[in-house]
Amino acid sequence: MTGEVSDRPSYALAADFERVLGDPAASGGPFSHAETVEHEELGALPPGAVDLVRSWGFSRYLVPEDFGGGLRNLEQLVLLTRALARRNLTVAVMFGSALLGVNPVWLWGDEERRALVARGVLDGDLACFAVSEPDHGSDLGTNETTASPDGDGYVLTGEKWPVGNATRGRFLSVYAAVEGIGPSLLLVDKRQLSAGSWDNHPFVRTVGLRGHDLSGITFRGTEVPAGALLGRPGAGLAQILQVLQITRTAIGALSLGTMDSVLRIALRHACSRVLYGQEIYRIPVIRRHLVHAHLDLLIAECTTLPVARALSVAPSRLSLWSSVVKYLVPTLGEEVVQESARVLGARGYLREGVASGVFQKLQRDHAIASVFEGTTHVNLHGIASQLPTVAQVADRPAPGQDGVLRQLFDWSQEAPVWHPSGRALRLTNATEDEITRGWGPAVAEARLIAERELAVSEADALLKVLDALSARRAAFYTRIAAESLDAATTEGQDRAAEHCVHHAAASCLYTWLYSFAGERASAGGTGWLVLVLQRLLARLDPTAGLEESLLPWLEELMFARLDGPEYFSLRAVKAAAGTAEG
Ligand SMILES: Cc1cc2nc3c(=O)[nH]c(=O)nc-3n(C[C@H](O)[C@H](O)[C@H](O)COP(=O)(O)OP(=O)(O)OC[C@H]3O[C@@H](n4cnc5c(N)ncnc54)[C@H](O)[C@@H]3O)c2cc1C
Repeated sequence: MTGEVSDRPSYALAADFERVLGDPAASGGPFSHAETVEHEELGALPPGAVDLVRSWGFSRYLVPEDFGGGLRNLEQLVLLTRALARRNLTVAVMFGSALLGVNPVWLWGDEERRALVARGVLDGDLACFAVSEPDHGSDLGTNETTASPDGDGYVLTGEKWPVGNATRGRFLSVYAAVEGIGPSLLLVDKRQLSAGSWDNHPFVRTVGLRGHDLSGITFRGTEVPAGALLGRPGAGLAQILQVLQITRTAIGALSLGTMDSVLRIALRHACSRVLYGQEIYRIPVIRRHLVHAHLDLLIAECTTLPVARALSVAPSRLSLWSSVVKYLVPTLGEEVVQESARVLGARGYLREGVASGVFQKLQRDHAIASVFEGTTHVNLHGIASQLPTVAQVADRPAPGQDGVLRQLFDWSQEAPVWHPSGRALRLTNATEDEITRGWGPAVAEARLIAERELAVSEADALLKVLDALSARRAAFYTRIAAESLDAATTEGQDRAAEHCVHHAAASCLYTWLYSFAGERASAGGTGWLVLVLQRLLARLDPTAGLEESLLPWLEELMFARLDGPEYFSLRAVKAAAGTAEG
């Protein structure tokens, strides 16, 4: 390690945002749980919440530095979004939907349109991504909205629904078939539309995210000016798949923030609720729920952050990797919510009481993470369709692999600055997958470290779980390489889900190799790795358990982080291991 993770500008920025948003468990402020619940009951956001986010300058981080904003890279935005999501997912989704709406402009817009949208967003305008239609969701190639050429411009006809920010948003990236050419993306600025040629739908009533503008828009022969077309005419379907790679990754932040909050609420409850004369944390199954939730959160972080960094390190890998994040992290998030609900018992079902009753809102809100921007099924389908190619090279190290992995997993360094370019994003990874292909050399290095640096019991536990995962992995990729896998089958879905477990295990191992060099021989510096790998192994082999002797250190850390501003995160593990005796 070359420096402290906590020194990095992105972490310092997120810490400042945290400070401004305030402690959600405290009684006042627009981001307190109490205010959030009170106003959600009315279907609204707490007064002052959006203003506070804007006045802090969050909108700057929706605009890349290249276009006059403050966004340096996706990791930075993921860290900021996690801070918002930890408090109020509705506000996080409002800005996330805006990012989705403007990303096509950053990727394919001309200079004039980039400047127009950048100015608007920096002034507080919202945007939306208008793709879904009442009769078309995941079947992207079949949408019915059309854009007929009309002089230099186009005439739009059709209905987009349901769309986040469709009413409040000024800018829309609209997916429409240009007559005679095919699906394309067009930038629409509502200020340039003639009144009466379009209208918004009423807000849709939703299970969660109450107060979010989920609505729609109907175009009835709406004229849009020349220059509205983003990128190459007819490239719309490919553009949608490319632009979603960025926000699918960012959705990991929605889950990370939610996981932190629900675990915090459940752990506090477990430490204060007394049954049979003792805190319920002492009931073995309650303890297990919380330990599992903490480990799953760490796995989710190890999986999300490197893919966010990949946008500016190795963007061509995002086709596969963003779908891994979009499937696995919301799935882990749902499981962590479920584990926390079990701990809370009846209190998890109330709209008042523990943590002002915010748990049920977090639960309802988070359910969207596995639905929008490609459902879990759609992402697994995308992964399955790439698996046969990846399996062919799974045991062959990739050229330049160590350099790429270091940039993704050495979290002491800022990720490089993102210079948006549509050309950098691809529709498949082909064989470019350092995370899968690096497993063999990484295990060999871990073996050397275990022999040279670790205590015997810890080394044995690490090697045992690595051997078990390696054996499963070898059988898995060998079988896929030998057989033809049909991505459209349920087997395709199951295989894709298993690939995500191997991807996550590799991500945890690389995080330890590249970010824990100074801590791995200290108490706790390797134990977390053994435990998260055992947790991942248990997804493939339910008989696999956790190493009990390694748990107390991590539990102590969990309790220590309960009331401070620090997240439950690898950063906290690293800091604690760094100060521990070996
Ligand atoms: C809160 C919220 C915000 C939203 N924001 C936006 C937005 O900003 N912009 C926008 O355009 N849309 C938005 N949407 C719409 C959202 O993106 C779609 O709902 C989502 O893409 C799924 O489409 P669908 O609901 O029509 O499901 P369908 O496409 O009808 O799918 C039905 C079922 O079939 C499964 N399925 C579909 N294809 C496959 C496949 N290939 N393999 C296996 N199973 C498959 C699905 O997983 C699902 O279970 C939003 C929706 C919500 C609820």
